[in-house]
Amino acid sequence: MRISEVETYFLKVPLDRTIRDSLFEVSYIGLPVVKLTTDDGLHGWGFNWMTAGGGEFAKEMIDRYMKKTLIGKDPFTRKKIERDLFFAETFGWDFRLGRNGLAVMAISAIDMALWDLLCKRADLPLWKTLGGYHDRVEAYNTHGGWLSWSIEDLISNSKALISEGYNAIKIKVGSANPETDYERLKAVRAAIGNSKKMMIDANTKWDLETALRWGRKFDDFDPYWFEEPLNPLDIKGHATLRSRIKAPIAIGESIHNKFTFRDYIEQRAVDIIQVDATKVAGITEWLEVANYAAMNNVNVYPHTNIQQPLHVQLVAATVNASVVEHVPWLLDVWKEPLEPKGGYFDLPQLPGAGTEIREDAIQKYRVTA
Ligand SMILES: [Mg+2]
Repeated sequence: MRISEVETYFLKVPLDRTIRDSLFEVSYIGLPVVKLTTDDGLHGWGFNWMTAGGGEFAKEMIDRYMKKTLIGKDPFTRKKIERDLFFAETFGWDFRLGRNGLAVMAISAIDMALWDLLCKRADLPLWKTLGGYHDRVEAYNTHGGWLSWSIEDLISNSKALISEGYNAIKIKVGSANPETDYERLKAVRAAIGNSKKMMIDANTKWDLETALRWGRKFDDFDPYWFEEPLNPLDIKGHATLRSRIKAPIAIGESIHNKFTFRDYIEQRAVDIIQVDATKVAGITEWLEVANYAAMNNVNVYPHTNIQQPLHVQLVAATVNASVVEHVPWLLDVWKEPLEPKGGYFDLPQLPGAGTEIREDAIQKYRVTA
């Protein structure tokens, strides 16, 4: 079997309602998409995504520089293909272009498409191809806790989610005055009681002094984890914070390679790894990070905004992973969308990696230059 065609698209999917966290306002999701076709008619789909501009350059990178490496290759030689994409065939030995940033976004999408082809050839969903472990996956909800919701919204959203069956919800922090965050967390904890899990997420906004001062205060509300308190490149700062507050430290959505995860784990700067297959170089690197975390007794709760059909499957096949984030976006884009019921995701059943995009969604959301 050989790859005979490489198609790419860029989709722009508007959200029903603009939301905000400590750093960003989000009104749409931009999706670079790659579709690989083989000479015997199989289709492998991969994607990446952004909450702001720039994703179209990942599509451009595939079109201009990566297609030529893919055409004619056996799709089941994934590791060789990816080495060729990372190294000499495409960008020479230049780390600025070939091993960081946009290249990782593009290679992540290609890696997914190659896994999707493998699963479809095996006639199995990804979680069975990898070796299933969990028979369902717990969900936690972030959509009730955006910084742009009023405190009344937070309380009513949190109560509604708990009554839907969620055991865990996430609340954004990083308001202009942290005292406001304290009052919001206090109100939510009072609304949901002490038995439910409440996570907090600063989206990298704070410096160490602010995170230490307010992290200690937030410990009053027993956070299940404190997510991205600091600049994600500051491993030492996270280690210091972790040694001085009670809440477990979670990082991952802003880390784009396995070596940084290794260093966080080795420097005892993290409790929970939120590795995201769309942020590292795809499913292949996600599995490497999850395995390294397992050997170090660290659990994986992947970051996800839109990619639940992929991450639910990865978690289902990973012993040291559980709970997948849910935000109800892009449900009309996936061939087999997932929504939690009673606080849990059922596992996908269609063959593939959960990355296939509906043809009508491509027609509806496609941006043409
Ligand atoms: Mg986050």
